[in-house]
Amino acid sequence: MTIFTSFHPPQRTLMGPGPSDVHPRILQAMSRPTIGHLDPAFIGMMDELKGLLQYAFQTQNALTFAVSAPGSAGMETCFTNLIEPGDTVIVCQNGVFGGRMKENVERCGAMAIMVEDEWGTPVSLDKLADALEIHPEAKAVAFVHAETSTGVQSDAAAIAKLARKHQCLTIMDTVTSLGGTPICMDEWGIDAIYSGSQKCLSCTPGLSPVSFSDKAAQVIQQRQSKVQSWFLDLNLVMGYWGEGAKRAYHHTAPINALYGLHEALVILHEEGLEQAWARHELHHKALKAGLEAMGLTFLVYEAYRLPQLNTVTIPSGIDDATVRSRLLSDYQLEIGAGLGVMAGKVWRIGLMGHSACKKNVLLCLAALDSVLSELGADIKSGVAVAAANKVYADTE
Ligand SMILES: *Cc1c(COP(=O)(O)O)cnc(C)c1O
Repeated sequence: MTIFTSFHPPQRTLMGPGPSDVHPRILQAMSRPTIGHLDPAFIGMMDELKGLLQYAFQTQNALTFAVSAPGSAGMETCFTNLIEPGDTVIVCQNGVFGGRMKENVERCGAMAIMVEDEWGTPVSLDKLADALEIHPEAKAVAFVHAETSTGVQSDAAAIAKLARKHQCLTIMDTVTSLGGTPICMDEWGIDAIYSGSQKCLSCTPGLSPVSFSDKAAQVIQQRQSKVQSWFLDLNLVMGYWGEGAKRAYHHTAPINALYGLHEALVILHEEGLEQAWARHELHHKALKAGLEAMGLTFLVYEAYRLPQLNTVTIPSGIDDATVRSRLLSDYQLEIGAGLGVMAGKVWRIGLMGHSACKKNVLLCLAALDSVLSELGADIKSGVAVAAANKVYADTE
């Protein structure tokens, strides 16, 4: 007879595209006693969570909460609620996640007009402007702020401004940007935003913070057709996440997961958004100095590179999977593989949330240096850690 025992995961250092290292305070928060999801104490925590999310997104939007499912469900929440059959949506695609937006639009029975840019480059404002001119019927513009498949940041403020000029709603993916690079939802005039708990917030996966402008909330309330998903229908969810004491049962909230998100946002608030953004930038600079000293090159042009997601070209003659499995077995270190057309060509090194620290940067550089040297890669060995340390020394 098979004997089943408790699962004990290995201790890893997570430097891929998410999940990132979860802060121990968050794991502790999640192990606190489960209470009822309509318990006044829990409802008080949810109200605080809303305020913390408003801070993280830099918004005053009343319709701000966490969807009880991962980032992909936040994406679906935005599309299924805002888009109706027959609508036209302009979707900007410069990586994997823009493609998923197209899928969402089409599954809503709407038409997706694609504005496509090469992977590794940001959304082109000129192409978007052309699409908006040609399609005055467009209801919304959807784009990914931080493309995790390539490590590119697009100019969200400029995209939103263009969309507004054409009376379009904006739907923005901030799964990888939230907590890592600036998001100013209200200042930029974004209508719908979704994110994830497991990237720069360093929480466990499975929750998707979202926020909707008053205009977007109105569009949802005035729909002609019912939202085809019962679970994600915000007109129903609001009865639960809405204001004050009138909360009605919709689904059982993931109680302990929400304790974790609350703690993650308390940590972000303690550090301060600006300080968190600066920390991601600093560790990116140190990692970059080390990788470049080694002779590795970045896929993305510096001006629109994401600090929290570093896409590095794999040296010629080196097998992607061999390196990643050695990093995992010998150093307990996870880095990410290339996605889609980038598979086998790049690594994606994440510096997200709690993973964006000196200890991780130095471990990653030292481990990559030795594994690549062992495999006979054409790199300069023994200089990466010193190059990174110089960046730290210069900024202290
Ligand atoms: C990770 C990610 C998602 C999906 O989030 P899940 O939590 O995996 O569902 C969506 N968009 C971007 C840009 C991401 O990086």
